Amino acid sequence: MSSSTSPSSVGHGRYPQAVTVEDFRRNLVAVQARVDTACRRAGRDPAGVRLLPVSKTIDDARIRLAYAAGCRLLGENKVQEAHRKWEAMADLRDLRWSVIGHLQTNKAKLVARFAAEFQALDSLRVAEALDRRLQTEGRSLDVFVQVNTSGEASKYGLAPEDVPAFIQALPAFSALRVRGLMTLALFSSEAERVRQCFVLLRTLRNRLRQSAPAAISLDELSMGMSGDFEIAIEEGATVVRVGQAIFGARALPDSHYWPNESITEEPHP
Ligand SMILES: *Cc1c(COP(=O)(O)O)cnc(C)c1O
Repeated sequence: MSSSTSPSSVGHGRYPQAVTVEDFRRNLVAVQARVDTACRRAGRDPAGVRLLPVSKTIDDARIRLAYAAGCRLLGENKVQEAHRKWEAMADLRDLRWSVIGHLQTNKAKLVARFAAEFQALDSLRVAEALDRRLQTEGRSLDVFVQVNTSGEASKYGLAPEDVPAFIQALPAFSALRVRGLMTLALFSSEAERVRQCFVLLRTLRNRLRQSAPAAISLDELSMGMSGDFEIAIEEGATVVRVGQAIFGARALPDSHYWPNESITEEPHP
């Protein structure tokens, strides 16, 4: 990790813990109001931005409160944690799970079993493993291609220059419904540097649209978190992934939840 990747800008300590249904209702209303304001500023329709609450590290009891407050799709960055929660909350029949973190091929089987969406596709090996498992399960899956727009070695995702060839290869995996691109911006308090990551994702998408195979939809841009989603909306986000502003600040820095195992497991291009 480089010293420029301080996660402090995402607001640790800024968001109080939500511990009642009322807390969750209030936080969801507040975040939606921030979404609406950012949309208005950008001349966009708020209906074009989906809020994805991110429940990583949150225990089942509090997730049930969020459900009671209206959450029906939750993002999790670790597959095993998401799968365990899916099993534990199977009684909440209409609660769906979006896996938003890096996937190792040996865990594709789990994702194929339960996930409604996978936002961190970044290798053909994972695409192949997911497709094979999905075919077996008789399911299909909405996927986003993750792009590393910050250039940080600690971040997952394809290098922007590798995305065009990757997209061309995806129609071979018929159980994957490609919806768009996803990124994590630089962790920085400098808004302009964060914004450049989102601009890069949007311009890449616009360029790809001209050559993408017919089966591939690139309508969605998943970008923006608690600390930077207004900037992401100004730059075209259609999905914002928001954890701390809804659930409360996490106790540990994000580096804890984003283990950089890929640095030894799968070197970045
Ligand atoms: C944790 C996480 C988020 C949400 O971050 P917050 O700071 O809690 O809003 C968004 N995207 C990914 C991939 C994450 O792992």
